[in-house]
Amino acid sequence: IDRDMQTVTLIPGDGIGPEISAAVMKIFEAAKAPIRWEERNVTAIKGPGGRWMIPPDAKESMDRSKIGLKGPLKTPIAAGHPSMNLLLRKTFDLYANVRPCVSIEGYKTPYTDVNLVTIRENTEGEYSGIEHVIVDGVVQSIKLITEEASRRIAEYAFEYARNNQRNSVTAVHKANIMRMSDGLFLRKCREVAENYKDIKFTEMYLDTVCLNMVQDPTQFDVLVMPNLYGDILSDLCAGLIGGLGVTPSGNIGANGVAIFESVHGTAPDIAGMDLANPTALLLSAVMMLRHMGLHDHGNKIQAACFDTIRDKKVLTKDLGGNSKCSEFTDEICRRV
Ligand code: NAD
Repeated sequence: IDRDMQTVTLIPGDGIGPEISAAVMKIFEAAKAPIRWEERNVTAIKGPGGRWMIPPDAKESMDRSKIGLKGPLKTPIAAGHPSMNLLLRKTFDLYANVRPCVSIEGYKTPYTDVNLVTIRENTEGEYSGIEHVIVDGVVQSIKLITEEASRRIAEYAFEYARNNQRNSVTAVHKANIMRMSDGLFLRKCREVAENYKDIKFTEMYLDTVCLNMVQDPTQFDVLVMPNLYGDILSDLCAGLIGGLGVTPSGNIGANGVAIFESVHGTAPDIAGMDLANPTALLLSAVMMLRHMGLHDHGNKIQAACFDTIRDKKVLTKDLGGNSKCSEFTDEICRRV
């Protein structure tokens, strides 16, 4: 066993997942990235007491490797097991959802030169699932904000900025209206900012961020925010760079666990046809390399991917070309 190799748990996923996972593995091999893949299938199974859980061999692999790369997983509608993504989030306490949105030169999008990162608190806020009927016709949904989760996400945002040569962090909030909950979130961001004097800290109302984002997204760097705002704003930002097909993401958990994944779904309409675009999963894998401190390998692979897209000769259908997933993959391999 090569001691310099690091193990990563690979969850290929459903639909186009296996095809785009194979593409990423091929490109990593061409780039001589020091990664050993440990493949695990993830399907929901019933554990003791009838509780849904992920298979023990997948959990064991993740506990050991700490790092996962994951393709899309299908979610059954209405009946059956809960969303696997939700199950993974709960199992590994994945508290931060990180999405870098970087314009890809040569790919036609509403804006150029976008280079920002959204960091979304992923465990509480409006999504804590506390809802009840007060009286017939009146429902109450509780927005939960805690000091602990707010401090943890703010610290992650500043650490991320520092480790990724980014200059500023903007806290996105509505503390003018939700004075107690968003007020607490903002207070924790301010406190954490005190410990990072090398990073500029700004605060902005969510509505002002939206206005400024469509007028000039280049003014933003790292943005940190509570769950609901992050859910919406991160998709808006993905739209600025060409959509979910090219947007990577990372889910950072407690105890050093992190799972990187493409944001798009299983694309059942093109699964198994060698038509999928592997870019989003590949850029997620690049994020993973940077997270592991393997910046050189990450930069090399990203450059080969961006060069291929800029060159326009070999592109998948969704990127405006006529090539297969395998041809696009081979072209990236040639350039790494
Ligand atoms: P989808 O993202 O799978 O597909 C939407 C459209 O985008 C389709 O036309 C598809 O062909 C296209 N597309 C998506 N990714 C592509 C790629 N890499 N290359 C080329 N074209 C691509 O969304 P959907 O149809 O709403 O969802 C399908 C399934 O995926 C559902 O079961 C859903 O629950 C699941 N899903 C999983 C995740 C995840 O695991 N993170 C995210 C979203 C949806």
